[in-house]
Amino acid sequence: MRSGVWLRQQAQSRPESGQAARLLLAEVLGCSVAALYAASERELDADQEERLHALWRRYGDGEPLAYLCGYEIFCGLRLRIDTAVLAPRPETEELVALALALSLPEPARVLDLGTGSGAIAIALAQARPRWQVTAVEQSLAAAHVAADNIAVHGGRVRLCRGDWYEPVATQTFHLIVANPPYIGEHEPEMAQLKHEPRAALVAAEDGMADLRHIVSGAPQHLLPGGSLLLEHGWQQGASVRALFSAPGWTQVRTVCDLSGHERFSAACWHG
Ligand code: GLN
Repeated sequence: MRSGVWLRQQAQSRPESGQAARLLLAEVLGCSVAALYAASERELDADQEERLHALWRRYGDGEPLAYLCGYEIFCGLRLRIDTAVLAPRPETEELVALALALSLPEPARVLDLGTGSGAIAIALAQARPRWQVTAVEQSLAAAHVAADNIAVHGGRVRLCRGDWYEPVATQTFHLIVANPPYIGEHEPEMAQLKHEPRAALVAAEDGMADLRHIVSGAPQHLLPGGSLLLEHGWQQGASVRALFSAPGWTQVRTVCDLSGHERFSAACWHG
């Protein structure tokens, strides 16, 4: 079959999935989406056709495009993604923007907890070449993905393996950021997230356990005047602000994402 014919067939049967069809076809042909037009008369060989049909079926099954294509674009950076990590979400680009808007001393020491693919840490290191960024990841498989991405994008992030603060036990930072698991075990949205690593999504205590652990450990790792910036569920704003009611925290604030949901909370540690 010619590639242009396949695209037209999909456009008729699933008009809402045109971009996905183009991305997967480009993946199979090994070209960019922009080059597909010129390739539309190209015959798919049997292998390519088989691969394309398999990918299209998995897409129809709800598997995220990032897993099918093996990459995601995050803050303009192409990151390798596999099922060991969560594909970074557009909201998390907003978390990066919030971190970059903070005025930190140069060179700032920054910690990204639960880095997954390395997305946040790499985006910060790229945007602020003088920041010293450390990323922590517990899962070995995820740390492999992060290490690859760090190497491809300049190698400026120090990656440590371990549980939250454990590998940075004696270190202090000007900024700690995290997009931890925050979905409660019984949340209905988990039904839509069956391809993602559960450990990256689900936390005990109605999704609050890891957020709680990160906030309570932060004072030992923040310099006076340092900030903690967290992504959380859209209904967790009040609960996260309550965690910051412990003495020593100031400038507690929640910021909505572009969909208007309370998605990020931050506070400053005055010690
Ligand atoms: N926002 C993500 C999702 O809905 C969840 C990310 C997380 O738990 N950190 O898929």
